[in-house]
Amino acid sequence: MTAILSNLQAVHSAIAQAAQLARRDAASITLLAVSKTMSAELVREACGAGQRAFGENYLQEALDKMQALHDLPLEWHFIGPIQSNKTRAIAENFSWVHSVDRLKVAERLSAQRPPELPLLNVCLQVNVSGEDSKAGVAPQHALEQARAIAALPRLRLRGLMSIPAPADTVQAQRVPHAMLRELLLQMNLPRDGKPGLGLDTLSMGMSHDLTAAILEGATIVRVGTAIFGKRNYGETK
Ligand SMILES: *Cc1c(COP(=O)(O)O)cnc(C)c1O
Repeated sequence: MTAILSNLQAVHSAIAQAAQLARRDAASITLLAVSKTMSAELVREACGAGQRAFGENYLQEALDKMQALHDLPLEWHFIGPIQSNKTRAIAENFSWVHSVDRLKVAERLSAQRPPELPLLNVCLQVNVSGEDSKAGVAPQHALEQARAIAALPRLRLRGLMSIPAPADTVQAQRVPHAMLRELLLQMNLPRDGKPGLGLDTLSMGMSHDLTAAILEGATIVRVGTAIFGKRNYGETK
């Protein structure tokens, strides 16, 4: 058995265990394999082990892999910081964007999504830990931003995404995840005579805090290290 196959099996059983603890159906949780810095061959291997959804942070690296792997039935998710001049290639090549953190980027993605493709699924990234260095809209602005994004014609706003500051215990890890869950709940309530947004996605939880995220309602967990091993930014691509 290859390392990736056994790692994927271990991650799936961790998801199943957390789901059971949360009294949730494990089938309601999607595993997004984060393949940044990993070669196309490793992605091919993960696909051979049954994995279909892959998350990438760097546009050019992702485009190279898509080209190398166009024979495979993969679903690509963009999860990295977005520069305005990269929105067209993102809108043309991905099924999902998790890292929308300002209206301007959302407007460009909507305008540039090709008409022959399905609507682009997007999440609004929220800065749940309040660190200045972290991307994402402040929680107090999230509702207003979400409403504006949901109104764009070529996007389908699916929900919220976060990358909280690391914490050591499951208990501490749950706090920012609970905040994101609560925000989503608020957005789905009717308000000021307008209907709720009908959002169905909480993209939260990575290798180290997957259990805490699932306990708080994560529907997509983004897992890199636990599947592919440690990243080496110096050499690999
Ligand atoms: C790299 C990355 C991940 C995966 O992190 P691991 O700790 O390797 O599981 C998840 N989400 C985002 C946005 C990332 O950049």
